[in-house]
Amino acid sequence: MNRLRLLIIVVLATSMAVPGCKLGRSESLQPSSSAQPAENSPAAEGVTFASERVWSNGTTDIPVIMYHDVVPKKEVWFDLTNAEFERQMEALAAVGASVVSLDDVVSHLRDGKKLPPKAIALTFDDGTLGNYENVLPVLRRYRFPATFFVHTAYVGKKTGKDHMTWDQLREIQAEGLVDIQPHTVTHPDDLRTMTDEQVRKELQDSKAVVEKELGNKVRYFAYPSGHGDERIARLVLEAGYIAAWNEIRAWNSAPADAMHLPRFAPKRFDEVIQRWRETAKEKPVAAELPASLAGTDWYASACLGDGPVLVRRGEFIQAPDRWQYSLIGRPLVIAGPGGGLLVRYQPWMGQEDGALGLLVEQPALAVVGTKWLVHNGKETGEMSNLRDARVLYIGEAGVVRVLSVTDREKLRDLKPQEAVLLD
Ligand SMILES: [Zn+2]
Repeated sequence: MNRLRLLIIVVLATSMAVPGCKLGRSESLQPSSSAQPAENSPAAEGVTFASERVWSNGTTDIPVIMYHDVVPKKEVWFDLTNAEFERQMEALAAVGASVVSLDDVVSHLRDGKKLPPKAIALTFDDGTLGNYENVLPVLRRYRFPATFFVHTAYVGKKTGKDHMTWDQLREIQAEGLVDIQPHTVTHPDDLRTMTDEQVRKELQDSKAVVEKELGNKVRYFAYPSGHGDERIARLVLEAGYIAAWNEIRAWNSAPADAMHLPRFAPKRFDEVIQRWRETAKEKPVAAELPASLAGTDWYASACLGDGPVLVRRGEFIQAPDRWQYSLIGRPLVIAGPGGGLLVRYQPWMGQEDGALGLLVEQPALAVVGTKWLVHNGKETGEMSNLRDARVLYIGEAGVVRVLSVTDREKLRDLKPQEAVLLD
């Protein structure tokens, strides 16, 4: 998907007016001052920002599971019992899953590193003693790698629960199967309610103490209670982390915002196994939309279009909570003055103003379609019930049209490279 990154570069370097659509630009999309210029690029600042945050090279969806404590008998609702945890690890082995590290997830999304089939990553938050006593022996038995996110002020302390000590964490880190990464110092309920200075301290101090005590390189962060927004994400990036996971229920898939990567709660575990069983055919990832899109009748009319619309005339319309999950995986058409993208919807894309700007600069229009009919010139197997359907298609010459298609033969005659059902 290097082409996607190139597209982002082209888009960022272009600034044309779009007749009929007012362009919105969020302040938060300005390149960060710490950004290094990209090589040989006239639009260096913007390019660097986009390629730093938006990872576009992954071709597979990877679930990351967020566990907390595992204990013989549940103490809080998000605990798992030993038996429940054992059942999930058994299921992974039985289904032929490949448990990979967060490093592998990052290398895949960012660099396109190949992963084994059914790749999944396991994370454990809050550093409780159950992670040492009950989780570690099971991970060792299966040789499953994992990441433990610990809040550093409570290492070795007892609050409601006992926590692992630095000695135990050193033993774990030295063994190499489990990687220890920070989860703030004090585990504030919601970082978004704190000042920049307070948040910086939580991020920097926890990173420094983990690196000092364990001697490993801190790279990853988990938002306490999953609460992060664009301001917090920028502070996380600024503190030197390269990726951060929240608690949004979605698969990790490209294009991904490195500062808003999703994780599933263990109660969603069965959904992951189910989807692996069902997913035989190739899932579409992303396709470029040419700049000529701006000249089409659809582009003009969709500025007034029906929903689900996330951007209309450059104005962001936040997806209601009830949409966030039902839209996952559906094709999202994002168009700006320099071109656009056809991409699978993930919840972070509809959460806040500015998110779509990481994919396409100055998005003037973003509309969620129903499903992909053709991707990369190949049918996806979803064309059987096409009757008077409104379809956006991209032809071989890059022509973008929206037409009413009476049946699938009509659509086949057009030899589309990409086709998305809009209705
Ligand atoms: Zn936590």
